Amino acid sequence: MAVQQNKVSKSRRNNRRAHDALVAGNPNECDNCGELKRPHHVCPSCGHYGEREVVAMADEIELDEDAA
Ligand SMILES: [Zn+2]
Repeated sequence: MAVQQNKVSKSRRNNRRAHDALVAGNPNECDNCGELKRPHHVCPSCGHYGEREVVAMADEIELDEDAA
């Protein structure tokens, strides 16, 4: 196992971690509903991908009287 030769100081460690922050993605608008969505992903608010609806949303599905 490799063993480090010198202790890494708190300052040097923290300076290294200064670039580790997560950055937000690059969302773009859904063509159907205008919500922000991830590129190349199904829209989470309306279930469309491009022109087509590919995922039915829960509030659009009609439930039976006794099932609801
Ligand atoms: Zn949408």
